[in-house]
Amino acid sequence: MVSRVSFQDVIRCYLCDTPVPTKHCDICDIHLCEECEENHLSDEYKEHVIVSFEMRGSTPKCTIHFAEICARYCKKCNSPICALCDSLGKHKRHETEHISKMADGNKEPLKKELKAVEKFTLPKLSIARKCNKQCCCVFSIVFGFVVFCFGFLSYFWARDV
Ligand SMILES: [Zn+2]
Ligand SMILES: [Zn+2]
Ligand SMILES: [Zn+2]
Ligand SMILES: [Zn+2]
Repeated sequence: MVSRVSFQDVIRCYLCDTPVPTKHCDICDIHLCEECEENHLSDEYKEHVIVSFEMRGSTPKCTIHFAEICARYCKKCNSPICALCDSLGKHKRHETEHISKMADGNKEPLKKELKAVEKFTLPKLSIARKCNKQCCCVFSIVFGFVVFCFGFLSYFWARDV
């Protein structure tokens, strides 16, 4: 009895029943083995997003159509979109791509951006340090002057008393 339950609990490929499948389609929400991945993708009735089993459910959901998973992303708006957005929404005339291409395509510009940020912030930091030093100088001059004034005044006060 117990063994039968655990037998049924084993996760299996949705198409061929192979146990412990390594892939998952986030759109259809089914487990797939590697052999069936191609098979599943060849069904062109709708788009599929195959991810590794560990990454299942990581595909973003549409912010407009909450139940829909984003199988595509809009190149113009640079955001993930669902099939409904692609065919009906404001992205209808925009150029779109399968979301699996987004990760690869976006890596390079991101890296470049990071470098640009680094270049931009480093000189700024050194300027800030310089400013800090100058502020310290100004402060110590003012402080010195105040101390001098007090000394001067206290000399007069002492004389008056
Ligand atoms: Zn299979
Ligand atoms: Zn699918
Ligand atoms: Zn949508
Ligand atoms: Zn768009």
